[in-house]
Amino acid sequence: MITPDDIACYRAETRGTEHVAHLNNAGASLPPDAVHERVIRHLDRERDIGGYEAKAEAANEFEAFYPAIAGLIGAKPQEIAFIENATRAWDMAFYSLPFREGDEIITVETEYASNFMGYLQARKRHGAVIKVAPCAPSGRVDVAALEKLITSRTKLISVTHVPSHSGIINPAAEIGRIARQHGILFLLDACQSVGQLPVDVNEIGCDMLSATGRKFLRGPRGTGFLYVREELANSLEPVMLDLHAAEWTGEDQYRIEAGARRFENWECFFAGKLGLAVAARYAQKVGLAAIAERNTALAERLRGGLASFAHVDVRDRGEEKCAIVTFTVKGREAAEVHHALRQQGINTSVSSGDYSRLDLTRRGIKSLVRASVHYYNLENEIDRCIEAVARLGRG
Ligand SMILES: *Cc1c(COP(=O)(O)O)cnc(C)c1O
Repeated sequence: MITPDDIACYRAETRGTEHVAHLNNAGASLPPDAVHERVIRHLDRERDIGGYEAKAEAANEFEAFYPAIAGLIGAKPQEIAFIENATRAWDMAFYSLPFREGDEIITVETEYASNFMGYLQARKRHGAVIKVAPCAPSGRVDVAALEKLITSRTKLISVTHVPSHSGIINPAAEIGRIARQHGILFLLDACQSVGQLPVDVNEIGCDMLSATGRKFLRGPRGTGFLYVREELANSLEPVMLDLHAAEWTGEDQYRIEAGARRFENWECFFAGKLGLAVAARYAQKVGLAAIAERNTALAERLRGGLASFAHVDVRDRGEEKCAIVTFTVKGREAAEVHHALRQQGINTSVSSGDYSRLDLTRRGIKSLVRASVHYYNLENEIDRCIEAVARLGRG
């Protein structure tokens, strides 16, 4: 459990909390000062002694990145690749899978735009077939319906764990069980779940998982990672190679790096990589179960407050809801609400309908205000947001 004293301590370690009520943790969270300082310290060393030299000096710490991330999701260090964001991490996994004409990809109605466009490309290039599992009435994916879509041609189940736009948590572990039973690869977009709730790749049973640094993990922007189960990583030819991912061993041959590092780039945001490791250790120290528990309580407080107004529609679905709260205000554009809150020192964001076209179009929603809480937020910040939205109904 996170106590009020703990919260005071986490806020004292997060300078941004002095300036704003930050309810945009699904966009980019406020980093702990330790994350910021680690990035700056490395940039300072790059300035003072040179980039290659700074990297060599911190060699052990760079190696410690892998166990730090692995520990966060129950993986092995050799199953982790550092990649510049979640989209490219996901791409490196997805585009490395060899699709043939008629191979089926099963996904969900709440799928994220970038991923779905990947499926469309696989259809255009290779003749892959896209199958979409519908939502159950609660809003999360209908797992039984998903299982019924499986045939002998199903090559991949690819699902967003926590959609960025609707408050739901998809039942990743139930999908994982089905994928394993049928011997089908399972790719999980955990961009919004890592750092927000406990995510364990063995409990979930996914083969590949992508995540970003800047969201609920509170890492630096421009960082992310990919997990690929060791045996699978060693059998996949990455869609792109460089001299870090592989070695040019002879005029007409190369040898690919073992494990998930074959999906990495040689050049990267080195300072950010160190900062991301700090963020991963910080989240584990706070405790993911405790984080999830507090996030649920804060989000419920916000939903409850907003739902009491006639001029507000809370748009979240799902029996089990997460730290993402979405709503619309009657007669006002989402962007207008977002700006009005911003004027009052309350950060939120706007989700546009094309971020998750299948789901939002079906629900007739053009855009949403998204308020995403995190454990370091205060109840009184939530209440300020509720009061600010209340005032929009009066004017
Ligand atoms: C934000 C987000 C992404 C993309 O992450 P980047 O780090 O910006 O590439 C992917 N999937 C989901 C569900 C997201 O919310």
